[in-house]
Amino acid sequence: MKEVPVLIVGGGPVGLTASLMLSRLGIESLLVERHPGTAIHPKARGINARTMEIFHQQGIEDDVRAAGLPPDKVGFIVWTKTLAGEEIERRVPWGQSMQRAEVTPVRACLCAQDYLEPVLRRCAEKQPLGTLLFDTELTTFEQDDTRVLATITNVKTGASEQVNAQFMIAADGAQSRVRAALGIGMQGKKDVYDSVNVLLEADLRPWTQDRPAALYFVENEEMRATFLTINAHDRWGFLVNSLKAHGRKPEDFTPDHSAAMIRRAVGVPDLPVKVLGVAPWVASAHVAERYRDGRVFLAGDAAHEMPPTGGFGMNTGVQDVQNLAWKMATVLNGKAADALLDTYHDERQPFGKAITEQALANAASMGRMAKTLQGKGARREFLNEQGMIFGATYQSRAVIPDGSPRPVVADPVTEYAPSAWPGARAPHAWVQKGGVRVSTIDLVGNGFVLLAGTKGGWAEAAMPNAIEPIVLGDEEPWRDLYGIDADGAVLVRPDGHVAWRSAGVATDPGRTLAGTMNAITGTA
Ligand SMILES: Cc1cc2nc3c(=O)[nH]c(=O)nc-3n(C[C@H](O)[C@H](O)[C@H](O)COP(=O)(O)OP(=O)(O)OC[C@H]3O[C@@H](n4cnc5c(N)ncnc54)[C@H](O)[C@@H]3O)c2cc1C
Repeated sequence: MKEVPVLIVGGGPVGLTASLMLSRLGIESLLVERHPGTAIHPKARGINARTMEIFHQQGIEDDVRAAGLPPDKVGFIVWTKTLAGEEIERRVPWGQSMQRAEVTPVRACLCAQDYLEPVLRRCAEKQPLGTLLFDTELTTFEQDDTRVLATITNVKTGASEQVNAQFMIAADGAQSRVRAALGIGMQGKKDVYDSVNVLLEADLRPWTQDRPAALYFVENEEMRATFLTINAHDRWGFLVNSLKAHGRKPEDFTPDHSAAMIRRAVGVPDLPVKVLGVAPWVASAHVAERYRDGRVFLAGDAAHEMPPTGGFGMNTGVQDVQNLAWKMATVLNGKAADALLDTYHDERQPFGKAITEQALANAASMGRMAKTLQGKGARREFLNEQGMIFGATYQSRAVIPDGSPRPVVADPVTEYAPSAWPGARAPHAWVQKGGVRVSTIDLVGNGFVLLAGTKGGWAEAAMPNAIEPIVLGDEEPWRDLYGIDADGAVLVRPDGHVAWRSAGVATDPGRTLAGTMNAITGTA
């Protein structure tokens, strides 16, 4: 029998990220993936700036960027009647805009899932504490108060063995068998529209290179489809939507039929096209009613399935495991009570619901559920969701309110007001550290960090409480943004969210911080 602190089921982007994060936190894990390798279909491509901040904090931003496309290859979103025909609309998504730089120094990245997953796999496998077994399936499991007992089976040889784990992360995708076995229901809408993803080889540069875009929507009497940029040259995705509404069935999509449709979507009857693969799928918009069941935690598509309109599915999943990993590590290290793990559901499930609603609203505005011609692009929120990307604010026992009012924005989907309100993402500010100009994003995102002013005696108080103190001078306007005086401090959790804030001095900073940590970890 294998003994391991954490068993991860699923080697998609979410499971692979969980493996990497746990290893970096000093926790051993075993990941099982039933396929022989990583994804062969480029499903997700848009890695948003918040997820890229997380990859930056995990030390893998450069590797991911090297596998993706440079920003100048994906500056627009374009709607056309056919790729070679009339253009309906062209937009610059917020992630490519100048305003983006005020919110984060880390840019979004377009990297197709079949290019990203090998990077995540390589980075996870480099870590000595993470074991990854491909061709290996979780077949059964049971749990009690002390452990999860799982059976894993090699799908090639049929050989099975048992794994005894303290916790299990179910990152086993939208059809999660773990979720089904636990009887966890989904809340929302199932099967909202059907689609087919075609992976193809064709040189589309004549119709794309003077308006480089991440997405080229095609909408005409015959079809509603999208060209998905992969290498901006000869490798593309072709997504056909609303099949039923157009009288189509997934089985119609033979390679010849798909190639003919691609030629019509481009508007060039003799275009050389090679179809590399066809993958039908159905979009749903629903969220698990609970993310935790005893010692098992749902993450990624297993916890929330949403239409890809907005590019949130994988991003939300990576952010799930970023929320979960440090909590699991702290509990496994005996530094927190089990109750800290309840805050995973409390913090991530409401956010999962909110983002799923936005993805569905995007899909509806793009006519995904009907045949009616739009004749226009999507609602203005589409790819303009900086409020959702940076504005997730958590309210749970792992966040200590400071009594200040929640920052208000007119539209929480499209507007983000940087704030160190407890529960919010510690905002980006340029600061000097050791004579070097860095972003606060560079300073947080691993252990507990105390960003403190020069007065107040916080630095000496932090260390005995296992908190890294970072004293920042007055020369930069970071304190205004963080809402503290020179004798104040902000405690940032290992996931980069603010846990606690003191606008000014405390009578006994040591006791204050000890009490704060006890409250967060449930060890009070
Ligand atoms: C057309 C399209 C475009 C998209 N675009 C975007 C985008 O731009 N941005 C974005 O963020 N998201 C996007 N998504 C969504 C994204 O692809 C998913 O959210 C993402 O793949 C979820 O990752 P995951 O690791 O949770 O699940 P998956 O990628 O589904 O991985 C789950 C893994 O678990 C394995 N598994 C299942 N059961 C077992 C078992 N019992 N034992 C062992 N292994 C098992 C599976 O083989 C699979 O590899 C898009 C999706 C589609 C369809």
